[in-house]
Amino acid sequence: MSNRQKPALVTKTITPGDPPPCLQPDYGTCRGCFGWPAMYDAALRGEPGWLGVAISCAVTGLTVVVREAE
Ligand SMILES: [Zn+2]
Repeated sequence: MSNRQKPALVTKTITPGDPPPCLQPDYGTCRGCFGWPAMYDAALRGEPGWLGVAISCAVTGLTVVVREAE
């Protein structure tokens, strides 16, 4: 294992659902979540506070968790 390589991340769907409407750039501010795309992006960047936590869209119910691959 090399420290220079970012760990591979996997997205696991906890609760299936339609993509959050705020993923569409013209949707504007979403009142249903704290910014699903921003939370998901943070997880995909490997920010520790967002790895392993449920990222849920209150509008569609889509809930995913991003973890480091085994
Ligand atoms: Zn949203």
